[in-house]
Amino acid sequence: MPSPIRLLVHGASGRMGQAVLRLAEADPRFVVVCAVSRSGADIPGCSVPVHSAATIADCPAFDVAIDFSLPGGFETLLASCIQRGAALVSGTTGLDAPAHDRLVGAARSIPVLWASNFSVGIVVLEELVRRAAIALGDWTVEITETHHAHKKDAPSGTALSLAAAVAGAAGTLPPIHSVRQGEVVGEHTIRLSGPGETLEFMHRAEDRDIFARGALEAAVGLHGAHAGRWSLRDIVFGQALTD
Ligand code: NAD
Repeated sequence: MPSPIRLLVHGASGRMGQAVLRLAEADPRFVVVCAVSRSGADIPGCSVPVHSAATIADCPAFDVAIDFSLPGGFETLLASCIQRGAALVSGTTGLDAPAHDRLVGAARSIPVLWASNFSVGIVVLEELVRRAAIALGDWTVEITETHHAHKKDAPSGTALSLAAAVAGAAGTLPPIHSVRQGEVVGEHTIRLSGPGETLEFMHRAEDRDIFARGALEAAVGLHGAHAGRWSLRDIVFGQALTD
């Protein structure tokens, strides 16, 4: 059995970071060697030392960093990954254009994968929707997304990506209906209507663990991969990332 992948978990005290820690610690493919949070304070249940951005250089060697944090710590993490020759899997949202540019620059020396949605189901949904929109070019398409009442942005980034997939295939952007309701984690429905028939694709996120699982699969895919910018699609559809 190969040695476990050594993980640095960035944003480890947050909701997503805790999910990554919990799932990684239960999975023999990984060993968490370092956790990083804004304050560096102890995290209940975390078995490794916790660092802040100021002491990230003291983390032991790691193969892949998994990052679900806030934009403020991103540059330091990226520099640390480049310095260590480690891969970066990041789901942090709200990065500005210069941060995305630096990610592109980093991809010249390390493997990087940034995704706004780490659900593997959504990756497959996008492909199915694209193919349906090509095959049913004269049908009308509409997207409905439902999220919890606290979500500030609308439409969701995922609905926008699905709409872009439809537009790339059918030439026109479909309308998006946004619903904010209760504590719904995330639902996306794509309805294609033709003469006398309707086709619906639906994805429902049950909990936030799905994003942590997707990030862990991405870490497996990027471990030992070529330097470059990879997507979750490459991981899900088995694009060869290594020799
Ligand atoms: P959270 O507020 O619960 O946790 C944020 C974490 O980031 C904490 O551990 C905090 O200490 C850490 N942090 C903040 N500033 C930091 C800094 N300067 N240096 C180091 N660490 C710092 O947030 P969350 O709900 O866990 O979400 C985290 C991020 O993941 C957000 O950007 C969110 O939008 C994103 N997210 C992405 C996906 C996806 O699939 N891509 C899914 C869910 C959440």
